[in-house]
Amino acid sequence: MTKENSPQFECHSCKNPIKVNLSNFEETLNCRCGQEYQFKDPSLKRQLMKFAALCEAIKDAEEILSDTQVGIDIGEHHVEIPYKLLLTRLNTTLDLSVGGKPIRFTFRIEPLTEEPK
Ligand SMILES: [Zn+2]
Repeated sequence: MTKENSPQFECHSCKNPIKVNLSNFEETLNCRCGQEYQFKDPSLKRQLMKFAALCEAIKDAEEILSDTQVGIDIGEHHVEIPYKLLLTRLNTTLDLSVGGKPIRFTFRIEPLTEEPK
């Protein structure tokens, strides 16, 4: 996993973004303002890894996503929305509770690119 796909969250004190290193999850993270964060909950790591994997999987599936769509009935209308369109609007934040405090982790995924046909 590249550093670019690392989840990040906002420091509670100064709102600076702090990157989480999933391959070295137990390390203490230091914010510029002096605030320290340490995540020891293995289930937290598992959830973050799953979410990171989901984001990766979506990127991997890009090729077939262009040709699949989801049909939705709105009243009398039937609307077909390409998955690709849905997924580019996927909310890539994950809200988890860490030590009783809510933390919103944000994943940065590159937007799915439009492939030439
Ligand atoms: Zn801070």
